[in-house]
Amino acid sequence: MSNSRNYIFGLSALLLASVSGPALAVTDEDLVKDHETPGDVLTYGLGYSGQRYSTLDAINKDNIKSLVPAWSFSFGGEKQRGQESQPLIEDGVMYVTGSYSRMWAIDTATGEELWQYDARLPEGILPCCDVVNRGAAIYGDKVYFGTLDAKLVALDKKTGKTVWRKTMADYKAGYSYTAAPLIVDGKVIVGNSGGEFGIVGAIAAYDAETGDEVWYRPVIEGHMGRMNGEESTMTGEKNASWPGDMWTWGGGATWLGGTYDPELGLAYFGTGNPAPWNSHLRPGDNLYTASTVAIDVETGEIKWHYQTTPHDGWDYDGVNELVNFEMEKDGQTIKAGAKADRNGFFYVLNRENGEFISGTPFVNEITWASGIDETGRPVYNEDNYPKDPTVVAESGLERDPVFAAPSFLGGKNWMPIAYSQNTSLFYVPSNEWGMDIWNEPITYKKGAAYLGAGFNIKPLNDDYIGALRAIDPTTGEIKFEVKNEAPLWSGVLTTAGGLVFYGTPEGYLQAIDDATGEILWKFNTGTGIVASPVTWEQDGEQWIAITAGWGGAVPLWGGDVAAIVKDFNQGGSVWAFKLPK
Ligand code: CA
Ligand code: CA
Repeated sequence: MSNSRNYIFGLSALLLASVSGPALAVTDEDLVKDHETPGDVLTYGLGYSGQRYSTLDAINKDNIKSLVPAWSFSFGGEKQRGQESQPLIEDGVMYVTGSYSRMWAIDTATGEELWQYDARLPEGILPCCDVVNRGAAIYGDKVYFGTLDAKLVALDKKTGKTVWRKTMADYKAGYSYTAAPLIVDGKVIVGNSGGEFGIVGAIAAYDAETGDEVWYRPVIEGHMGRMNGEESTMTGEKNASWPGDMWTWGGGATWLGGTYDPELGLAYFGTGNPAPWNSHLRPGDNLYTASTVAIDVETGEIKWHYQTTPHDGWDYDGVNELVNFEMEKDGQTIKAGAKADRNGFFYVLNRENGEFISGTPFVNEITWASGIDETGRPVYNEDNYPKDPTVVAESGLERDPVFAAPSFLGGKNWMPIAYSQNTSLFYVPSNEWGMDIWNEPITYKKGAAYLGAGFNIKPLNDDYIGALRAIDPTTGEIKFEVKNEAPLWSGVLTTAGGLVFYGTPEGYLQAIDDATGEILWKFNTGTGIVASPVTWEQDGEQWIAITAGWGGAVPLWGGDVAAIVKDFNQGGSVWAFKLPK
């Protein structure tokens, strides 16, 4: 009796649901297969591997010149600043985040707003490098994103109403959040931001349904991890590569989110600079700063690490994404990962065990190291370390800068690279710049900048700073480059149509030929582009979308380069493009 009633109730609920058109739940399998399903974009990176490659080819080298805007959506508000967000697309809805921790749901066919969420940030937040957000995550019937006051928010994807909101860390101590979360097996996996304030870099997993912490893994040696609310294991060994109590405020912010290999069960996160910048205060390798760490997503344990800049002295955050790809070399297929690091080297690692395969320059000027040795350790130019300020003071000078390249904004900064399965090449948005840098005395104080360094960034060439470079990962060879006057700060998208899309601070979304670098199409959005393009298929048509709005770290920290780009207009919008019918 009760069984049949349940059956009938279930059936009518199903019928009702199909009439009112419920939002379909995004499943684990949907996320695993995201890169194979061009009708949606469910992950940051167009797939867990972070390749940013689409199998769509309806827009291609032959017809790209006809691409036109279909709609543009304004983020509004008096406050604009940098828009670094990658949209998600699901079931005819775009979920896109904006500056000052805002999110919108937009009808992808018309560009009409479905809802807006505004995080209402408190006074006193401490974002180091503009009030950006890089994107949302989607799972079940909810969308997720992190805010500048270090909260993680789950919203009903239909209504934009808050389902839960958790404090991840204390924003008054300099913690903030800007990356797109990674969702794996019902866990929302996040890093943190705040490396310039002496925070402790960490990766944490939260239950997607309840927001409860599942595990917490600091990435600085000596700190304890947590699992299901209890202390678990210590990260590394206390004082093994850090002196005294310097590890307590050791930095290593994991501020760029992660990629994931579902077969290996490993998530890959980069870690930022050791704090403070003044390296003379912390002799040692300072693990696990400026590294890539592979994390077991079930336990939060570090399975392997690879440190790109041991004992960093230049703010070469190693946060850059590890893009998973299968590398054919010498008749073998290697489960590889590639990373274009802030420090100017393009690394290929074995993503199963972290073994070093190669490290080759992707910028023209690298002064801090002459290369990477066969063990994967940099060969330092010791006289390019910024000097010990106590020694400088003894010699009677106020400061004695060294000129180092790349600048601390990096050979590449946050903007994601892309891999094309069409060409087997990586496309890297790189920048050519250097800096005068000198150290200063500093002590840790909660909520205060913890650098112990001064600097001024300078261009290296008269005619360009940015260069979109195509790199063969099997050799490190740069196949071609497309120069850009202003520094590139936009992510990249590759397609089976033989196209590579990226934006410029001058305002252009542009598409180049993936084999030659020829610019085949460009469109000016009226404000600088510092975000990552996406593509998807809807009702038989291929769409392209990009967020626009000039800002990010360059105008704030760029020294002489900031002066060059100071007249670029701010904005805040998302643009959608397609071919005319
Ligand atoms: Ca998909
Ligand atoms: Ca940093």
